[in-house]
Formats: sequence, C-alpha cells, structure tokens
Amino acid sequence: MSKSNKKIILSEQDMPKQWYNIQADLPEPLEPPYNAREKRPATPDDFKPIFCDEIIKQEMSSERFIDIPEPVREVYKLWRPSPLIRAVNLEKFLDTPAKIYFKNEGVSPSGSHKSNSAIAQAFYNKEAGVKKIATETGAGQWGSALSMACEMFGIECVVYMVKVSYEQKPYRRSLMQVYGAQVFSSPSNRTETGKKVLAEDPDNEGSLGIAISEAIEDVVTSKNAKYSLGSVLNHVAMHQTIIGLEAKKQFEIAGDYPDIVVACLGGGSNFSGAAFPFLMDKLQGKKPYLRAIAAEPSACPKLSKGVLAYDFGDSSGFTPALKMYTLGHTFMPGGIHAGGLRYHGASPLVSALVKHKVVESAVVKQRAVFEAAVAFAKTEGILPAPESAHAIKVVIDEALKAKEEGKAKTILFNLSGHGHFDLSAYDNYLSGKMTDYEYPEEKVAQALTHLPEIK
Ligand SMILES: *Cc1c(COP(=O)(O)O)cnc(C)c1O
Repeated sequence: MSKSNKKIILSEQDMPKQWYNIQADLPEPLEPPYNAREKRPATPDDFKPIFCDEIIKQEMSSERFIDIPEPVREVYKLWRPSPLIRAVNLEKFLDTPAKIYFKNEGVSPSGSHKSNSAIAQAFYNKEAGVKKIATETGAGQWGSALSMACEMFGIECVVYMVKVSYEQKPYRRSLMQVYGAQVFSSPSNRTETGKKVLAEDPDNEGSLGIAISEAIEDVVTSKNAKYSLGSVLNHVAMHQTIIGLEAKKQFEIAGDYPDIVVACLGGGSNFSGAAFPFLMDKLQGKKPYLRAIAAEPSACPKLSKGVLAYDFGDSSGFTPALKMYTLGHTFMPGGIHAGGLRYHGASPLVSALVKHKVVESAVVKQRAVFEAAVAFAKTEGILPAPESAHAIKVVIDEALKAKEEGKAKTILFNLSGHGHFDLSAYDNYLSGKMTDYEYPEEKVAQALTHLPEIK
C-alpha cells in the first residue's frame, strides 16, 4: 500500500485478539484503592457488591495481554476495526510539514469510543449471570454505549441521567430508550439518596456524583444487579487499548510511527486506549522519544493543576478512594460544552504515568477548541465531539510548532467521537455567545480541603 493513502483500513481478521494491560510495564506498581470508611486498603471483596468477578480480576491484573472473548469481537465487528485516516487537508490548511493521522472512534453505533468497554462489560456480566446493570450518565455518551451493549447481550439496563442533561439533551435520552434502557432523571424518587436530595432541594439539577450514588444504591438493593463505570478504572482503560493496538498495525501498513500521540482526557479512558499500546514501546525502551499528550479543558485541568492524592470517585464519597490527580471530589467545574471532560479526577494509570513524566498534559480553552473543531470539520468533513476537539486544538498547536521548527513530525490523535448530538454547542459558538472558562483557582483550593484522610 502506498504512503499517500487517505485511510488505512484493517480487515476483520486483523482486528487484535487481545487487549494490552499497561500494569505489566509500569515503572512501579499502582498504589491500591483505599477503603476510607474502614481506614484500610481496599480488597477485591470491597468491589464484589458492584462488579462481577472477571471485571475485578482485570482491574487488579498485571498480565500484559488479556484475550478479547470471541462474542465481544463479534459485536466489535459491527464497526471495528475503525479507520486510521491521514488528515491531509488539515495538514495543507495549516501548511505544516507534520503528518497528522487520526483514529476515528466516532464510527461506533453510540458515536464514541465508549462502546469498546461497554460491550466487554455487558459480556462479562452476562457470563456471570447478571440480569440488570445500572449506571449513571452525564452528557449521555456512556449511557448510550451501555444501553446498546446490554441490549446485544440481553441484560436490563437502568441509567440515572443527570437532570440538566436529561432536560437539555433529550435526543441522547431517546437513543438510550431506543436501545431498551430505562432512563431516569437524577436525582430521582427511586432511591433513598435521590429522595433525600429532592426533599432538601426539589429543584436540584443533579450531578454525576449524585447519579453514581443512585446507580450504586439501585444495584446493592436489587437482586442479580451490578454497576458499571465508563472510564477512570484500569479495566476500562484496558478495554480501550484496542484503539491503539489497531493503530499500531495501521502505522505498520503506512510505514510510519507517531512521534506524538494526543487524546482528550475526561476520566482517561480514550487517552489510555490510544496511547498505552505506543507507550508500551516507550516503557520498554524502544521508542524513548515518543510523546503522549493528554488534552484538558481550562475549566477542569486535573493533570495540569490538580494534586496527586487519594480521592473518591464520586462527589458523595461512596466509592473506594483512588490514588489519582484530582481537583477534589466536591469540585463542580463550569458548564463547558464538553460534558465528558467535566470529571474531577483522572485515571490512576494515567496519573501514575504523569507522575513518572511518561505522559504530558496540555490545557486548552473552550473557544479555541471550537475554532479548531470548525477548522477540522471544514477540512476533513467530520464534525468532532466537543471533547475530541480538545485533542484537535493540541494537535494544531503541535503541527504549527513543527512548522516553526521545520520538522516533519508524525502526530496521531484519537477522534473519540462525533458531534452530531452537540449541535447546540456549535450554535452557541457560531452565534458568538460562547465564553471561556478560566481555571477556577479558589473553587479548587476549597474542594481540596475535602480530600479523605489516608494514613
Ligand atoms: C466520555 C467521552 C470522553 C471523555 O472520557 P475519557 O474516559 O477521558 O475518554 C471523550 N470523548 C468522548 C466523545 C466521550 O464520549
């Protein structure tokens, strides 16, 4: 195949048969989760009420490669392998010597990379005899992915959707309902947590933290039910590595290899998925020059401005505490349009790699992000999700730097999803009403006073 091909497509037979588990190659083992209520390190038993055994095993595993079950690969084939595309028109527009490639995860049925883990989680729960999965969703991308995955494996799906999104994003809700999920506006009257919140404040707009608490309460008070998380945790990051593993094969076909890998970072799953298989080469000493950059919004820059500490995964402090870069679990970021990037913490795996200076972060502002998104749509034709556009902004900055330096860098970024459900955000930008969010220093300082105490 010639190097000037626009897209590099793998056949279904060439789809990877194993995920990559970066825990095998970390500079030092991860610090374990901590049970803050009982003041001791968490054990697998702490996770048993909410996750099935195989998921817990993967969460703690340090085996380098883990087989992708055949039924999961079968469902993946609906859209995988996803294309690797050379953004030639964007390169021309920027007049850069850099070569820009992107992996298009927007081709999945739910419109984002989240389906890669949703399918795997639904499968393992089905195998374990689970009848119902409950989860939370903010912007609705994880809820859509899990609804579709549960339908594929015949599991009931219950989604607690943050009230503001439930009202502002009715079409994401409709999509989940098409896939057969029950969707509730959170806070709801279905749980004690929800009832308590509503009793104190009937107009409460909801938050991811409340929705997580509701989903977990639903699970622990139901029979044969489990909870499911769409980012942050190790097993989710591992399921996403199919992105980078495919990309490596595609780069081999192209006769190229990236100098820089870029992805946006909310909880860290699509960044992990795209970057970890390449970082394996860096950690094993084969590609010391490789840079991996996580793109963060100025409204919620946990890697760039947060602290590395044990903190809860949810705002109510229900979950075990994780060692991660965090802005504090009570921190509520401004209402940026990239809902998927408004999480207070970052995956413990990505956090550990930042600590060891294997991974870098870059902070970008909302309006510049949408300017980049529009440039990308005009040149490459694809409307990116606002989250993915954070990566595009960083890629453009790096490509312009390469031009200044006269260096033909090869850049890969992950297009984590399409933006077809985010047109109101684009309207906001095009009408000139969009504002930037500065880093909210005082709110973060305040939230950091609420970190759990760990001995
Ligand atoms: C959820 C989401 C993100 C952020 O989550 P990560 O776990 O950091 O990947 C980014 N892009 C899209 C399209 C999403 O749906």
